[in-house]
Amino acid sequence: MENSNHFGKVYLIGAGPGDPGLLTVRGKSILEKADVVAYDRLVSPGVLSLCNPKAKMVDVGKMPTHHKVKQSEINKLLVKFALEMPGATVARLKGGDPFVFGRGGEEALELVAAGVEFEVVPGVTSAIAVPAYAGIPVSHRGIATSFHIITGHEKEVDSRKSEVGSDSVILSEVRSTKSKDPSQNLSLDFENLAKCQGTLIFLMGIANMDFIARRLIECGKDPKTPLAFIEKGTTPNQRTVMATLETAGETIVRENVTAPAITIMGGVVELGKTLAWKKNLPLSGKRLVVTRAAKQSSGITARLTALGAEVIETPMIETRSLEKPQTVFHPERSTVGAESKDPGLQGSVDFKSLANFDILAFTSTNGVESFFKQLFAAGYDVRVLAGKKIASVGKITEKMLLEYGIRCDYVPEGHTGEGLGLLLRDVVDKCEHVILSEERSSESKDLVESRILLLQGNLADDTLLKLLPKATRWTVYETLPVAELPDWKREAIASADAIVFASSSAVENFSRLSSVGQSPFSRLSFCIGRLTEATARKHGFETVTSDETTMDSLVKKIVEYYTMGENA
Ligand code: SAH
Repeated sequence: MENSNHFGKVYLIGAGPGDPGLLTVRGKSILEKADVVAYDRLVSPGVLSLCNPKAKMVDVGKMPTHHKVKQSEINKLLVKFALEMPGATVARLKGGDPFVFGRGGEEALELVAAGVEFEVVPGVTSAIAVPAYAGIPVSHRGIATSFHIITGHEKEVDSRKSEVGSDSVILSEVRSTKSKDPSQNLSLDFENLAKCQGTLIFLMGIANMDFIARRLIECGKDPKTPLAFIEKGTTPNQRTVMATLETAGETIVRENVTAPAITIMGGVVELGKTLAWKKNLPLSGKRLVVTRAAKQSSGITARLTALGAEVIETPMIETRSLEKPQTVFHPERSTVGAESKDPGLQGSVDFKSLANFDILAFTSTNGVESFFKQLFAAGYDVRVLAGKKIASVGKITEKMLLEYGIRCDYVPEGHTGEGLGLLLRDVVDKCEHVILSEERSSESKDLVESRILLLQGNLADDTLLKLLPKATRWTVYETLPVAELPDWKREAIASADAIVFASSSAVENFSRLSSVGQSPFSRLSFCIGRLTEATARKHGFETVTSDETTMDSLVKKIVEYYTMGENA
């Protein structure tokens, strides 16, 4: 939770058109720390998997009733989250750009009315990015000097027609009536649109496109105007269907063009025949599930994505803050220092015993977050750390400590656990801190060492305790296998082409998790090495296995499989 406001702060974030690589850096950084994410149906699973795994995920496209949630209800929900969660980061995640036919303006007005702070994080709009992924530039020298983005769908209730014009973009809304006849419910200015020399881009218009095309022809637009429908642009299922204005209606029926799709009209469409780059990538159109822990997986994810695949990261383990820290001593430790004085230190921790320590060492951001969570829950605040020295394993942990108002005294150069241990060993040997006697006796060294507290996770190795055997370790968080998959991830996995396994334990965990629900999922797996392959077979997967036990070899194998025929 970053903001210290009385209420939560709402971020209206554009998720882009589908490809998670098109989410902005700003959007990603907010989603990574969001406490709540309220997202639309159009937001892709690749983007959802970038959200803070601990965030409450609310699908406002499909609430408990399974009915589409009315805009007024979404507005109320955002206000409710903000009011009920002081200091929280509430992300309202919308397809494309929140202010391009995204109704973000309506949500913002409601937030202002309720006195809730908000910020808009623009997104990459499908109107421009989807044609780009099909190799169609919306403007091109000598062909189109303007482009116009138009909605072809009726609004829920509002019957006012609004038109917002700017230099090169006309946004026209459509009048709503109960009638299904588009001639009754579309109030586009066809006369003017037909005269526009620029590129016309229709959003939400597939259902009405036959009518729109006929009206444009009636108003004088060339029936031979090239036109493209681009379905599910920037996702693995992107498809471009070319037509002309006069064949638009029949093409939609024949090719079964379905939403979400945009329609783009004008000379620029021809360029798509030469410039379509996306569909030529070797893994284009493939959705792959990567099962490693998020931190480990980003390397392989980046590589598969660059080759055109959509990757759904599905970590198999998660961290959870303990309710209270638990004490762990070095097994061979003799009873000196803090523990001998305070038997309460064994097992569950009382924060009063922090008084027994002079140096606190953090080895991860999870450790920092969990420690402060527990400290605050026990009714204390940072003042209990007054006068203590703080050590961090590296820069990221150091930065997080700073967010809690704590500056680090010791950070090792190499940013490793061993480096931290050696640095603290040095501090102990020099008795820099808490020198009770003038003599640097081994006893005073022991005392300094025993006043070091290590704040770690349950799976932390013994590197630090080996270097500092008299130190105390508090386990502040634990790492567990993921217990269940959220619905959106289950749906994404169900639609994946294959699962990528980098270890036997990933296969075991994945099989356990995916059998919890009923969704069918791909039985094709790419495995690193023979051991992983054997486990995958045991669990009923078809396997394609890398020649060597390296990520390079695995990626190579995946590309080979999809480019050299699926039975290579
Ligand atoms: N705010 C969004 C638009 C919301 S209106 C934006 O800036 O992109 C929803 C319409 O956007 C859909 O009906 C479709 O016309 C278009 N759209 C959104 N994502 C799309 C995608 N991945 N491929 C094709 N069209 C898309």
